[in-house]
Amino acid sequence: MQLVKAEVAAISPLTEFVHKVTLTPEEAVTFEAGHYLQLVLGEKDKRAFSIASRPSLRNELELHIGASGADSYAMQALEHLREAHQSNTPVSLEVGLGVSQLRVDHQRPIVLLAGGTGFSYVKSMADHLAEIGFDQPVLFYWGVKDESALYAKQEMEAWAASRKNFQFIPVVENPSGDWQGHTGFVHKAVMKDIVSLEPYSIYMAGRFDMIGIVRDDFINHGAEREHMYADAFAFIK
Ligand SMILES: Cc1cc2nc3c(=O)[nH]c(=O)nc-3n(C[C@H](O)[C@H](O)[C@H](O)COP(=O)(O)OP(=O)(O)OC[C@H]3O[C@@H](n4cnc5c(N)ncnc54)[C@H](O)[C@@H]3O)c2cc1C
Repeated sequence: MQLVKAEVAAISPLTEFVHKVTLTPEEAVTFEAGHYLQLVLGEKDKRAFSIASRPSLRNELELHIGASGADSYAMQALEHLREAHQSNTPVSLEVGLGVSQLRVDHQRPIVLLAGGTGFSYVKSMADHLAEIGFDQPVLFYWGVKDESALYAKQEMEAWAASRKNFQFIPVVENPSGDWQGHTGFVHKAVMKDIVSLEPYSIYMAGRFDMIGIVRDDFINHGAEREHMYADAFAFIK
């Protein structure tokens, strides 16, 4: 873990509820794809956010923060970042946390699974895998409640088009009449597409209740527990 101060370079909306935060650390940071950082609000008050940017970008950190409700955990963190941005005051970060970072195993295909803003966690991995020219299949599933939440759809389509072994599959839970793709819960789409998850390494992020359900359903669908990764596992039974 690396303790660093960082300037809040920019905060911009990705959707009505999700904000992109760009941080410029005062020194180059070292982390692995899939790690998270903690924004230090106080000695005992640290807020966890996945690092969306890839590890090779050592002088910039990108976060995607889903925040609604004035007093929510994420909104308070966002307010702290906004104040720091406006007053040009650095924020304190603990960078490189978590146990669910990407393990590059050239023998195993990968499923990257995101629910909503869980996207941030797997985005860093997707970009890192592209950068190292990973040659096993990588299936990137992103589930959202409605189409407007697919804020990086075009970017991910370009990512998928960049290598023949990459696929991007957006899944909309409550689609409009025009939606042509997968619908319902994102992990159900995975189970529909893949006969057995046994050969795959699986990385997942989303709401805690979702992750518990996905873990159990995926194990019943052949996934091996030792090849499933989610930092949320530490918070659920
Ligand atoms: C280490 C760590 C890092 C975190 N980093 C971030 C971060 O960077 N940014 C952030 O905003 N939050 C972060 N969180 C919090 C958490 O990941 C988010 O609260 C979560 O991703 C929010 O999802 P959402 O509300 O966008 O999903 P929703 O919009 O509620 O759901 C999106 C999709 O997820 C699936 N889904 C949701 N619920 C279920 C269910 N019960 N069963 C099956 N599928 C379901 C569906 O496909 C649904 O369409 C972090 C938490 C931890 C522990």
